[in-house]
Amino acid sequence: MSEEFLPFSRPCISQAAIDEVVSCLQSGWITTGPRVAQFTEALQHYFKAPHVLPVMSATTGLHLSLLAMNLEPGDEVITTPLTFAATLNAIVLAGAKPVLVDIDQNTLNMDLNLVASAITKRTRVILPVHFAGLSVDLTQLYDIANQFGLRVLEDAAHAIGSEYQGERIGSSGDVQVFSFHPNKNMTTVEGGCIVTRDQSLAEQIARLRFHGIDRQAWNRYGKNGSQDFEVVLPGYKSNMTDVQAALGIHQLRELAGFIARRNELANRYQEALSDWPQWTLPKLPQYAHLHSWHIYTPLINEKAAGMNRDQFMQVMKERNIGTGLHYRAVHLYPYYRQAFGFNPGDFPLAEDACERIVSLPLFPSMTDGEHDRVLDVMYSIFN
Ligand SMILES: *Cc1c(COP(=O)(O)O)cnc(C)c1O
Repeated sequence: MSEEFLPFSRPCISQAAIDEVVSCLQSGWITTGPRVAQFTEALQHYFKAPHVLPVMSATTGLHLSLLAMNLEPGDEVITTPLTFAATLNAIVLAGAKPVLVDIDQNTLNMDLNLVASAITKRTRVILPVHFAGLSVDLTQLYDIANQFGLRVLEDAAHAIGSEYQGERIGSSGDVQVFSFHPNKNMTTVEGGCIVTRDQSLAEQIARLRFHGIDRQAWNRYGKNGSQDFEVVLPGYKSNMTDVQAALGIHQLRELAGFIARRNELANRYQEALSDWPQWTLPKLPQYAHLHSWHIYTPLINEKAAGMNRDQFMQVMKERNIGTGLHYRAVHLYPYYRQAFGFNPGDFPLAEDACERIVSLPLFPSMTDGEHDRVLDVMYSIFN
């Protein structure tokens, strides 16, 4: 095995971005400052949204967004079992109860047709995930939310650059949270941002993000233009640094190219694997959308493959190719089973997908040669 290990994901960092990070480090201002302000403005422009709040991670972004919605104990948030644990953890940490509905077998997104029957008097928020970067049906989602008077928090960790009917995720709706973790569509090492059109929610998130500090509260009672501040609630420490923003400014400029390459590679898998009996490939919805292909996740057909997903991942690893698992069903983790009484069989479609799903290598700097190598190895495993 002379060939180098091929990871399932790898960040793509340009020289311009590296130079900007170095300039920042040499500038004398490395935490939240001018580069975060510049990145914030670039994101506002990108999303055409009035309020964008960069934060240390999408996890904290989800948590702060839910806290700012003032949920009370017993309040319910409806989400999907096919997501990273952070989605449910944020709900619990915000003091609410996660209520799950099963997924759509084709798109792997939350089945919006099941949401209405999961709504109770305690439901406050619908929290869908744009899985793999495929937008949920936003028209249907907001119809339900408006009908029942619910807030919407879109976990858009996979979905910067994705579009629904010609509009970017983040350019309309209630609240979106994006991730800039190294495996995501663009990175700031760790990081994320919250996007909203709700000014008072944005102001509350801004306080929660930084010690509960409110400069305007001081200004109301104090001298004009003072640097002083008031602490109006016990806040967190979730602000992004200028070093991260230095990277983010360039990643955002390069994002369209990243998404285009992700689409080429995903389409290459879709075509190459289309008649393999070993796989059930991702299916796309009828509505117009731009997929960002954060991950490419076929489901293994165990009988035809002669092996299960875990065995496939092991064999690939032995052949020097990395794969990812996104995700194991969150409701079956010990904490969620114990705290909320979830059991195997509760969400059969999600559980089936979670048993069979695998993320094949896909990242913007992946070459056609590397892509061929993945397909060749897969071919040799099954034939
Ligand atoms: C990555 C991810 C998160 C958390 O993002 P971080 O920036 O790592 O905190 C949340 N939800 C989903 C669906 C994710 O994939």
